[in-house]
Amino acid sequence: MSDPDSFDVVVVGTGFTGICALHRCQRAGWSVLGIEAGDGVGGTWYWNRYPGARCDVESVDYSYSFDGALQASWRWSENYATQPEIRSYLEHVTDRFGLRDLIVFGERVVAAHYDDRWVLTTDAGRRVRARFVIMATGSLSAPQVPDLPGLADFAGEVVLTAVWPERQVSFAGRRVGVIGTGSSALQLVPIVACDATELTVFQRTANYSIPVRVMPYSEQDQQQIQYNYSERRAKSWRAAAGTPHDSYPVSAHCLSPEEQREVLDASWQKGGVLFAKTFPDQNTDIRVNDLARAYVEEKIRSIVKDPSIAADLVPVDHPIGAKRICSDLGYYEVFNNDHVRLVNLRREPIKEVNARAIVTADREIELDLLIFATGFDAMTGALTRIELTGPRGDTITNLWRHGPFTYLGVAVPGMPNLFVLNGAGTPSVLANMALTAEQQVNWTIDLIAYCVTHGIDEVEPRADAARKWTDHVALVGGKTFMAQINSWYVGANIEGKPRAFLPYAGGFATYTQTCEAVAERGYDGFVLTRRSRTA
Ligand code: NAP
Repeated sequence: MSDPDSFDVVVVGTGFTGICALHRCQRAGWSVLGIEAGDGVGGTWYWNRYPGARCDVESVDYSYSFDGALQASWRWSENYATQPEIRSYLEHVTDRFGLRDLIVFGERVVAAHYDDRWVLTTDAGRRVRARFVIMATGSLSAPQVPDLPGLADFAGEVVLTAVWPERQVSFAGRRVGVIGTGSSALQLVPIVACDATELTVFQRTANYSIPVRVMPYSEQDQQQIQYNYSERRAKSWRAAAGTPHDSYPVSAHCLSPEEQREVLDASWQKGGVLFAKTFPDQNTDIRVNDLARAYVEEKIRSIVKDPSIAADLVPVDHPIGAKRICSDLGYYEVFNNDHVRLVNLRREPIKEVNARAIVTADREIELDLLIFATGFDAMTGALTRIELTGPRGDTITNLWRHGPFTYLGVAVPGMPNLFVLNGAGTPSVLANMALTAEQQVNWTIDLIAYCVTHGIDEVEPRADAARKWTDHVALVGGKTFMAQINSWYVGANIEGKPRAFLPYAGGFATYTQTCEAVAERGYDGFVLTRRSRTA
């Protein structure tokens, strides 16, 4: 009799990547279990349900491309989908492919160790065995909250954007504080400002934000989407960022100041994160970057009426696009309201929190509700928070003590038959995560199928292949502006985290080709082991 707690594959996490992985495993005819900490699917899009959460990639692109009938079965209502709509989409996919019964909800994997199989343990005490494990645990899924002195004494309500409660959080009639000014905060702040009696935004580092032009899809848009769909997706698969958008065709250096301005105006009008690639050399030539940076600075100063507040909102420490550009709906405008204040933590750091208030170097700011929008232990945190031990006693925290060490981002020496999808060393966060999820799943499922077909019991990357890939990730990333500043891209937001450029910056299409070439060469860089001999 087969063991009900033993599976060919266990998939941890059911966001975009996990759902796709479950579907492919089911289609392959393997026994598969999904384990999900949330009470529903969605991953990042399940937990980040703060008001205003919305994707900065267009909805027609930020969805699966693998099934035409699935695509035709779903109509996005707006060009940039909100969190509830994305979550509904993923629920729809789950039900359409009959995946729900394959998933255990409300249990978090806390440990996994390998003897001749992986044994995974959840926080509910469940133990399951798996021949292969797919870690679809997300890149931005391990929330981080600063350890502010006295926080435990705060008598008001405390919430995190990254784990927003299901219950209604009211802003009306309350004094609200938001700590952090990244993408999450900038989406939330205008909504809080509408209802709160007082809103205080605690800013350590100013970010660039471009207003996003949200529009409902008309019937004509819907028809256009269907008409262009195949071409659009095909182009995305060949693109560096997994979306079909191009920069202006020539360098800013080839244009007159008036023409540069026209191009920037058009890009601003288009809105959102695409502003980061207005000119083709904006992210490689600092003079071009400066043009774009100065343009946005001028916009901020024109929107915000008080020049001293505007000055604080202008980023001073990074080229535009070196951190992910935020997209907002009226963020800068909020600071023209008398009930909204900006606290520049560089000038006025937080000293402590007491029962009523945040105490800065200069004053005490009383609050009823404190919101942390303070980001994530990105790209590695979801994995290193699991007690993960390979067959030779290697733990993931030890293996990665100097930074993530992977082959193609997907596989880790010392962790056979375990695949980490959309993690460190993959394009993921620098591209369209919905498409990168598909690529990661396709490649991994093909590798597992190869093992099954060829009677291979264990697949594990060679250390020299991982060294080469890890060095390559560092080299390619090191050439970008992103590597030169402090952000979660290099782990700088987490105290004690080794500095390493985390995503692969060589582009989605290049990465995909590299992975395909490895597969075509019979998975070189991997040791493929049969029980009694090595393949
Ligand atoms: P984030 O970009 O890491 O921002 C965290 C913010 O918290 C930063 O302003 C940071 O300041 C601040 N912070 C952290 N610790 C602090 C402390 N001890 N004291 C004061 N401030 C502190 O996190 P996020 O906003 O959640 O966004 C993370 C990523 O998720 C984004 O870059 C984006 O890729 C993705 N995202 C996308 C969307 C979208 O699609 N529209 C929405 C939300 C998030 P410092 O900069 O000084 O560290």
